[in-house]
Amino acid sequence: MNKPSAPAAEYPANIPFLDNAGWRDRYDKLFTPNYGARRLALVRGEGTRVWDADGNEYLDFLTGISVNNLGHCHPRITAAIREQAATLVHCSNHYYIPQQIELAQMLIDHSFADRLVFGNSGAEANEAAIKIARRWQKETRGPGHHEIISFTGSFHGRTLATLTATGQEKVKLNFDPLPEGFVHAEYNNLDSVRAALSDRTGAILVEPITGEGGIHIATNEFLRGLRELCDERGLLLIFDEIQCGLGRTGTLFAYEQYGVEPDIMTLAKSLGGGLAMGVMLCTEAVAGAFAPGAHGSTMAGNPLTAAAGRAYLAELIEGGWPGKARRMGEKILQRLRETTAGMRRVKEVRGRGLMLAVELTDGAPDVLLACERAGLLVNVTAGQVVRLLPPLNVSEAEVERALAILVEAIATAPAAAGGAA
Ligand SMILES: *Cc1c(COP(=O)(O)O)cnc(C)c1O
Repeated sequence: MNKPSAPAAEYPANIPFLDNAGWRDRYDKLFTPNYGARRLALVRGEGTRVWDADGNEYLDFLTGISVNNLGHCHPRITAAIREQAATLVHCSNHYYIPQQIELAQMLIDHSFADRLVFGNSGAEANEAAIKIARRWQKETRGPGHHEIISFTGSFHGRTLATLTATGQEKVKLNFDPLPEGFVHAEYNNLDSVRAALSDRTGAILVEPITGEGGIHIATNEFLRGLRELCDERGLLLIFDEIQCGLGRTGTLFAYEQYGVEPDIMTLAKSLGGGLAMGVMLCTEAVAGAFAPGAHGSTMAGNPLTAAAGRAYLAELIEGGWPGKARRMGEKILQRLRETTAGMRRVKEVRGRGLMLAVELTDGAPDVLLACERAGLLVNVTAGQVVRLLPPLNVSEAEVERALAILVEAIATAPAAAGGAA
C-alpha cells in the first residue's frame, strides 16, 4: 500500500532546525491530520523547563495549555502518581474510590458547589453540564426549556454538543447535522443576551475569562447581569472554568473575583495534576436531576488520576499558589506594558493572574517561531493573540528571560507577510 502523507498545513514547513528530525515523517504517515504540522518532540520536563528530542531547552509558558500548572514533574504530584501506580491504577465507579472522595471533598469545601461528578476531559465535563441542565429544566419546569445560550468567541470542547455550544464556526465545519438547542449571544453584551432569550431558554454557558477565544475578560456587570437574568427566569448559570479555574487567574476559581456564583461549573485541564480529568460541579438543587443511571464514565476519577488530582489541589491550596499567581501576573502585565509600549505591532496587552495575552496586529505565527528558536514556548490563538500560560510557580528570573525573548521576537519577526494565523 502506498498511502500519501498528510499535508503539513498549519506552520511553515521545513524549518531547518527545531524539526526534531525523524518524528515528523512518522507522524505524518500515522495520524489523522487534524493537528496540522508539529515542530518539536518534547521528551522531558522539570519545573518551568522542557527539553526536546535534540536536547534543546525551553521555558514553557504554555504548560500544555494550562495543564501543568505547578510546572513539570512537581515532586509532590510525581510522588503521588508513583505511589498510586504501584498500588491500584483503576477499578471502576462500581466501587468507592477513596482518593476520588477526598478530591471531591476539597473541591466542594473550596467552592460554591454541593455535589459533583468526574469526567475525563473538559468536553465531557461540559457535556455533563449540558445534560444535567436539560434534565433539571425538564423535571422542574417541564418540557421545552432546553436551549442553551453561549457566546461568540467561546470554546467549550470538541464533542458534538460542546462544539455546537462553542462560538466559533471553524470547529463546526461539515459536522452537521449538529444537535439542536444552542444559540449564541455576544460576549460582554447583556442586550444581545436579552435578544437571544426566549421561552425555550434553559441555561446560559459562559467562560468568565476566555481561553482559546483570546483571553477576553468578562466584566463584573456582565456576569452579574447574567446571574440576574437567570434568577428572574428560572435559568441555570453555567461557568466553564476549564481553563481559567484552579488558581490561574489569581483566585482558586475565577468567579470569586466577580461576587457571582453559578449553579453549575466545569473544570478540567490542570485538575488531574497532568492526568486526564474533568469535573462538573453543581448546587444541591441541580444535582438531583442526575438520578442513578443518568450519567457515568468508565475511567472518570480512577484511583491514579484522583491521587494525582488530590496531590495537585492540596499543593495549590496549601502553597497559596493562586495568590502568588495574582501578584506575579500583575508584575508581568506591568512589565509587558512597559516593554511593549509604542511597539507598532502590539495592539493590546491584557490578562488576569497568569492568563495573559499580547494581541498583535500581524505576524503572530512568526513571533511564535522566533520565541521557540530563542527557547520560549508560547501559543497563538484567535488569529493574532500570543497567549502566555506560565506555571503558577514560575520564578521572577524565568519571567524576565521569557519577556526579553518575547519582546525581541515581536520587534524582529518579519512584517505582515506572515500575518495569517
Ligand atoms: C480546553 C477547554 C475545553 C475542552 O477541554 P478538553 O479537555 O480539551 O475536552 C472546554 N472549555 C474550555 C474553556 C477550555 O479551555
